[in-house]
Amino acid sequence: MRSYTLTAPAKINLYLEIIGDRPDGYHELAMILQSIDLADRIELHSIGNDSIRVRCDRPEVPTDERNLAYQAAELMATQFPEAFSKYGGVEITINKHIPVAAGLAGGSTNAAAVLVGIDLLWNLGLTQSELEELGANLGSDVPFCVAGGTVIATGRGEQLSPLPNLDNIYIVLAKYRSLEVSTAWAYKTYRQQFSDSYVRDTANLAARAAAVHSGGIVKAIFEKNTAEIAQKLHNDLERVVLPAYPQVLQLREVFATQESVLGTMMSGSGPTVFALIESEQQAQAVKLKVRETIPDEDLELFVTRMTTHGIQIVSSGK
Ligand code: ATP
Repeated sequence: MRSYTLTAPAKINLYLEIIGDRPDGYHELAMILQSIDLADRIELHSIGNDSIRVRCDRPEVPTDERNLAYQAAELMATQFPEAFSKYGGVEITINKHIPVAAGLAGGSTNAAAVLVGIDLLWNLGLTQSELEELGANLGSDVPFCVAGGTVIATGRGEQLSPLPNLDNIYIVLAKYRSLEVSTAWAYKTYRQQFSDSYVRDTANLAARAAAVHSGGIVKAIFEKNTAEIAQKLHNDLERVVLPAYPQVLQLREVFATQESVLGTMMSGSGPTVFALIESEQQAQAVKLKVRETIPDEDLELFVTRMTTHGIQIVSSGK
């Protein structure tokens, strides 16, 4: 039976702007997404029957049809029924390193890995854009997770334009294990509080998204000016999450007082907060300092760095 092992990196949002409402009920967004070195490991095995099985080393992650990796395999089975009956079912084993429900796209990157892995297992020969299109059916962050890197994402987050790769920037991530922020709650609350300022005219929606393409942070990314990128971080969802979750606000403030932190921001709908830092040594020192300032065992801290890729194949077997 054939098998593939893949790595599935997390993402952070360097920029997240909510532009307006879309007719499909989602928000029109302009984001800059960045892959980071913190990754889950996904193993895919062909099994000689027609079932999809998911195993995960984290008990809080569902392994049934609620799991995005499961949904990705199901999507492939319905899209490619001949290959499914030829090659049989799939067993998916997820080794989690990315914190769950953290605003780091953990589930989305697992789903992207399953799309890439099944494409290989079933010899489908799909292109990157075909994989991204399939991913859009599973969630707005899934298309980005396929190839990763540094990307402008507009629409619901599924329309991608690559930016020059950033990689030599270090990151400290901070998240309280027991704290979860519902993404649906964050967007709904934002709509309740701030929809007055939404761009209503659809032509202007596109113009606003286009403005992000030429805006300050994009220029800083083209210039690879880390200090400037860090100054231009932005996330509209902080406006609703920080007032409601004082622990997230506290992490923001503790990071902001560290000398070597160039900039700090919440990722996605939180509750993970990240800090951008020039060197690994400084990042380790910041991690220690935050640990000293908040000696709470519920607080998880990770040192990682930006990376230029999405899903990667580690090994394959017969
Ligand atoms: P995003 O940044 O895309 O909003 P997230 O990082 O906030 O995602 P996930 O880690 O994907 O959040 O988890 C959100 C919820 O999805 C969890 O409550 C979890 O139960 C469920 N889930 C489904 N599939 C997975 C998966 N493969 N890995 C982790 N969580 C999953």
